[in-house]
Amino acid sequence: MAKSKDKHICAFCGVEAEKSTRRKDLFFVPSMYEGLAICSDCLNKGYEIIQEFGGAQKKDAASASSPLAELTVPSPKAIKAELDRFVIGQDQAKKVLSVAVHNHYARLKARFMGKDQNLPEELAEVELDKSNVLLLGPTGSGKTLLAQTLAKMLDVPSAITDATTLTEAGYVGEDVENILLRLYQASGNDLEKTQIGIIYIDELDKISRKGENASITRDVSGEGVQQALLKILEGTVANVPPQGGRKHPNQEFLHIDTSNILFICGGAFVGLDKVVKRRRGRRVLGFGDNTAGKEILPELDEKADIGKLFAECEPEDLVHFGLIPELIGRLPVLTALEPLDKKALVRVLREPKNALVKQYRRLLAMENVDLEFTDGALEELAAQAVKRGTGARGLRSLMEKLMLDVMFTAPDKKGNCRCLITAEVVRGEAKVELDRA
Ligand code: ADP
Repeated sequence: MAKSKDKHICAFCGVEAEKSTRRKDLFFVPSMYEGLAICSDCLNKGYEIIQEFGGAQKKDAASASSPLAELTVPSPKAIKAELDRFVIGQDQAKKVLSVAVHNHYARLKARFMGKDQNLPEELAEVELDKSNVLLLGPTGSGKTLLAQTLAKMLDVPSAITDATTLTEAGYVGEDVENILLRLYQASGNDLEKTQIGIIYIDELDKISRKGENASITRDVSGEGVQQALLKILEGTVANVPPQGGRKHPNQEFLHIDTSNILFICGGAFVGLDKVVKRRRGRRVLGFGDNTAGKEILPELDEKADIGKLFAECEPEDLVHFGLIPELIGRLPVLTALEPLDKKALVRVLREPKNALVKQYRRLLAMENVDLEFTDGALEELAAQAVKRGTGARGLRSLMEKLMLDVMFTAPDKKGNCRCLITAEVVRGEAKVELDRA
């Protein structure tokens, strides 16, 4: 019988074997203590434990660095208050957006923190739809500004694109995936951040089926683009070429999961008011007893406010307008923005945090010029912008034209000056003067 010094004994499982035997399935690593060793089986088990534990540690580190860990989700009221600082009017749209955005990020955060596991079983099983948003409203009413302000507030990456530049794969134009690439670039090439970003797609109305954007190089019906958009809106893992441009074989792709990206779409939907009006008419006239219809839908007068009709828009109106029902289904939050009237445009000039008046005052203050606008001047500017019909968009170019001479001469003035812009100056009936203060 072999003596103990001729044997290996595993200090963990106690298995023994004579030192002289050579087995492939069992070997020993000796320790510094005579006769004590660890067997290959125990080594293997130890290795598995390290793998598992190490893996868990790595996972913890990954979640701690997830952008969701740092994301604070403001309440809808707080979101609206922040939007109020930058966007004039549009109260209803702000309210709707605040709730949608809060819900979207609160849901992601809750899932990330594992909070949704504490819910009662019947609620935990309820699938939450993603609240992608469709903003209906005339150009220059603040749709893009709303989306941008939201992204900045939440400190998530954002990308803005125009649906008219998108095409179905295979046509000349931009692949839908390129929007995702832009978002990825905006996130500083951080995939996790990209996947919780906000994408604003403008001019969605221009890819409606009846779209008049006919072109021989593009998908003329618009339906193909809608189908392509639908895919990323409903959540997919998109293969995005990291350099942009066309896809080609043997290329390495970024795999971007779009299921948690918030999509906000917007469009002017010119003519939608007529579609809504027609539907209302049908409802009132279509039944034998039309009083019921009348009760639900109060008569609108002939010149019914376009804003009011937009606010009454229902998904079926969008189908009539030419959007495919599946796409509308993926944009469950629908809200309308009002056209900005003269009074609102004066406020746009003066009140937001980055209002044009404030920007020019700051620019000129750096040249020691104290710039003032009279109320009349702002009203005149707003009236001119209303005539252009491009909402607040027209204000910047009007202002730039107006301020050009002052901006040109101010840096050469010595000493402190005062500059008063009056309605006459805006109308071109008087010249701008830089007076010594
Ligand atoms: P839209 O996307 O509705 O066509 P934008 O949001 O791009 O319009 O607006 C164009 C510019 O006009 C913005 O840069 C912003 O300065 C200004 N603007 C538009 N609407 C508003 C608003 N409601 N409040 C403040 N500024 C506005």
